[in-house]
Amino acid sequence: MVHNGLVYLRGNPTDYDNWAPMGNVGWSWGHVKPFLLKGETNGKIDRVGSFWHATGGPVSVERLPYQPPLTNSILTAAMETGVGISEDLNGDQLTGLSVVQTTSKDGVRRSSATAYLWPVRHRKNLQISLNSTCTRVIIENKIAVGVEYYHNDKFLTVRAAREVIVFAGTIASPQLLLLCGIGPKKHLDSVGVRVVQDLPGIGENFQDQIMYNLQYTLDESDIYDNNWAAAFEDLWPFRPVLFLATDLSKLWIFASGYVAGCAPGELDALQSTGKRTVTPWPVYHHTRSRGRISLASNNPFDKPVIWSNVLSEPADVAGLIEAINITLKLANTDALKAHNFTLSTTPMDVCSDHPFLSTEYWVCALRQSVVPRAHTGGTCKMGPSSDPMAVVDPQLRVYGVGGLRVADASIMPMVTFANTAGPTMMIGERAAGLIKKHSMQNFQRGCLQ
Ligand SMILES: Cc1cc2nc3c(=O)[nH]c(=O)nc-3n(C[C@H](O)[C@H](O)[C@H](O)COP(=O)(O)OP(=O)(O)OC[C@H]3O[C@@H](n4cnc5c(N)ncnc54)[C@H](O)[C@@H]3O)c2cc1C
Repeated sequence: MVHNGLVYLRGNPTDYDNWAPMGNVGWSWGHVKPFLLKGETNGKIDRVGSFWHATGGPVSVERLPYQPPLTNSILTAAMETGVGISEDLNGDQLTGLSVVQTTSKDGVRRSSATAYLWPVRHRKNLQISLNSTCTRVIIENKIAVGVEYYHNDKFLTVRAAREVIVFAGTIASPQLLLLCGIGPKKHLDSVGVRVVQDLPGIGENFQDQIMYNLQYTLDESDIYDNNWAAAFEDLWPFRPVLFLATDLSKLWIFASGYVAGCAPGELDALQSTGKRTVTPWPVYHHTRSRGRISLASNNPFDKPVIWSNVLSEPADVAGLIEAINITLKLANTDALKAHNFTLSTTPMDVCSDHPFLSTEYWVCALRQSVVPRAHTGGTCKMGPSSDPMAVVDPQLRVYGVGGLRVADASIMPMVTFANTAGPTMMIGERAAGLIKKHSMQNFQRGCLQ
């Protein structure tokens, strides 16, 4: 898994309750919740309770041990605006401002690799090949039988005794499938890849969330003390997170710490404005724009083409502007005015035809500098066989090719209304359960024969 921002959010139960009626049997909230709990060890179980949280799983979840002094004022601002405060965004208070939960232990990062792989790295039936790039899934007679990978200047192959599981992420999983001839026939023909299975949905349905950067200054010096507290303040996860209650958690805002930038050109010199800056990022989660991942060529080392197509749906533009306006409103509260919270974002020249901060201004500004959230999914969409754009079935098996599953964020038919690492780890847990069940059934069938 990528080195991410540590935020642990599961999304809204309705996310999964929307997946299930699309034909994804076994993926409603009631079905996935046990797998979310199975993965978790919550360091504050007394505070969050065992109905929504668990102990005993490999992923440590907590709130980081230090929050900057401004946090309380931001929470007060949330009360002042009516946004409110949530004690637990992974519990039954899905809206309101909250100090975010993180995948960390005693303040130290825990990735999915440290949680899941590291403790079992010595198992005899596990071999980890570092610095290796998978270049192809080997398919014989429409069955995946192994993979080819590149390691130390050599192409090597490994055969699968049972199944091949692809989990290279929203961009690389469809790339790998396309490279081995599974995908839309027309596209495969155009890049000279022999078609193994015409599957039109591969690479389609690309989704990402979107955000925009606002900047504020505070009445505090931006000189940092050389101590741990100062170091922590510069880290993203100490930001408070806001979920807002319009149409079920569509909006999310986070203030990314007190950011210290490096002055251009000068080694070791901090960029100083004389005042501390705080960077809230209004985010829109529930995007409707859909893009595509395709191959640039049949060379596995060529980067794929990402056509994100963000902001192609007017509702996404409107949603992000709503989030921006709520952020502006928060900043305008007595609680934050007490810190002389002042917008330092300056109007863009290219949008100067529109009054600064007007809707027309934001429509123009978003077109200039909307930021992809990197919470992507959808490109190997899970769905029933009746859906021509489905890539995997609800057991994560690739349609039309035996012995091949996908188990990562790419299978989400719709990306969850929050950060995607927690839901993706759940997909991994769910996949492990499905694979074990399949193996047991085969074993029992073998015994009965
Ligand atoms: C900068 C950033 C910050 C983020 N912050 C957060 C956050 O705070 N909280 C949150 O919930 N989510 C966050 N996310 C999103 C979250 O990390 C992803 O949703 C999650 O990692 C998706 O998991 P995945 O397994 O689908 O893909 P990935 O995590 O991308 O894992 C795929 C893995 O496959 C490897 N791989 C790819 N191609 C090949 C190949 N050909 N051969 C071999 N290996 C290959 C990659 O190196 C990678 O290790 C963030 C994402 C980014 C980019």
